[in-house]
Amino acid sequence: MSPRRGGPVLAGAGVLVVGYVLLPGGRAELVGYAVLVWCSALVLLHAVATSPALRAWRPLVATQLLFALGESVSVAQRWDGRVAFPTSADALFLLAQVLLFVSVLGLLPAPRGGVRGGALLDTVVVTTSTALLFVVYTVLPAFAGQGHLAARLVAAAYPLCDVAVVFLLVRVTGWRSSRPRAFWLLAAGLSASVAADVTFAVLTAVGQDGAPRWVRVLWLVFYGCVAAAGRDPSAAVLGHPPLERRTEPELVRLPLLAVAALLPPAALVVEHLLPKDQDHGLTLGLATLVVVALVLVRVADLLRILRGQAVVVARQAGTDPLTGLSNRRAWNAEVDHVFTRAGGDPRLPLTVAIVDLDHFKAYNDTHGHEGGDDFLVAVARAWQRALPGVFLARWGGEEFTLLLPGLDADAAVAVLRAVHEAVPHGQTCSIGVATWDRSEVPPAVLARADAALYWAKRTGRDRTVVAGDHDGAGVDVLPPTG
Ligand code: GH3
Ligand code: MG
Ligand code: MG
Repeated sequence: MSPRRGGPVLAGAGVLVVGYVLLPGGRAELVGYAVLVWCSALVLLHAVATSPALRAWRPLVATQLLFALGESVSVAQRWDGRVAFPTSADALFLLAQVLLFVSVLGLLPAPRGGVRGGALLDTVVVTTSTALLFVVYTVLPAFAGQGHLAARLVAAAYPLCDVAVVFLLVRVTGWRSSRPRAFWLLAAGLSASVAADVTFAVLTAVGQDGAPRWVRVLWLVFYGCVAAAGRDPSAAVLGHPPLERRTEPELVRLPLLAVAALLPPAALVVEHLLPKDQDHGLTLGLATLVVVALVLVRVADLLRILRGQAVVVARQAGTDPLTGLSNRRAWNAEVDHVFTRAGGDPRLPLTVAIVDLDHFKAYNDTHGHEGGDDFLVAVARAWQRALPGVFLARWGGEEFTLLLPGLDADAAVAVLRAVHEAVPHGQTCSIGVATWDRSEVPPAVLARADAALYWAKRTGRDRTVVAGDHDGAGVDVLPPTG
């Protein structure tokens, strides 16, 4: 079995289509067309019948066989010239169109967990915009055309089926995953079919009788692509819900939304420029209002998502990923804020503390790096519980910083006893404390606290040292808490 069966099928179909183009008109072309449609349906039937993995393709096989049957009936009816529209072949075609929608829906199911609100709204916007143009330029003219009611209903039903196919195509634009070659072949075939149907409807609306050969070539492209899709090795992937969902389909699909929003007003402008026998100004104006309103709803939805993401990103940027405490970035921002506030109130003392775990390297050596990580998480939680409301940050490694506004050194030392007592697993910590002298810059206060910490380590660890005024030498060395 060739690993790329879809390719030869496509190439063969291309050769056959060229042969079809070269056929003389009349009955030869009629037969040639029907034979090609049958060929593609049977190629698909063979692929699906011989591969149990292609179970999901079975409805599409039925669809293509129904189309082929319709083409045969149509050939028989037109064998002796024109026939009155609609015919029994149209009933088969319309049934096949409905079946096509159902079978493609089965082959391209929604991702697990359903379609997200934004993606659904995108689909609604683009389908609405396209559908409104279909209605204005194909459904309504077909319905308003000549002939009895049944004929006009059938003529109008064809473009409505195409709207359904457009819905299917738009629906999958936001899905990044599960887009094998079979998907693209199927999408190309469906697009060719919609293009052919639209052209046919417009030609019929302007009074042309029957589909010209190049439009029939587009339909052959549809049949050929569907057959090639079914024979492609990747065909078995379709029919299963995509596993992953895109995380940010919203921004990528903005061009699609822009096209959807611009289609109705563009049609309005084109209509205004062209000589016209019918004025769709009101309908197109209303269509524009509807689509623009939908796009605005979508834009509001996007902004809401972006605002939410900005909040998450800002929170993450200031958070230490291991302990969940504020990191140095958030610490710096808080320091600016608190020092500015304390500067405006001469009665408000401000003390900072640096806490460093004692012999943490040894703890790591004993319990492994992961054990050390677990300890850091545990000690962070314990301190948060011991000092609720106090701004505690992971300064780096096994060093932590505390901001204690409203506390002078003595009060801070009393509060910091809780920090010593909360260290779990029999471990200890040393703390350096410095109170703002109301003139120095924040890094200078922190440098004095660091110097005090150094003294705490030098004088035996497991203690708090309050920094002297400016020299950094430790004073008030407290006895070990243990
Ligand atoms: P001292 O009492 O003098 O502070 O001794 P110490 O061992 O705590 O200090 P030292 O600076 O020699 O070692 C700090 C250790 O902290 C070494 C480093 O591997 C460990 N450490 C720093 N960050 C992390 C971390 O994120 N996870 C783990 N598991 N260990 C860390
Ligand atoms: Mg240490
Ligand atoms: Mg250290």
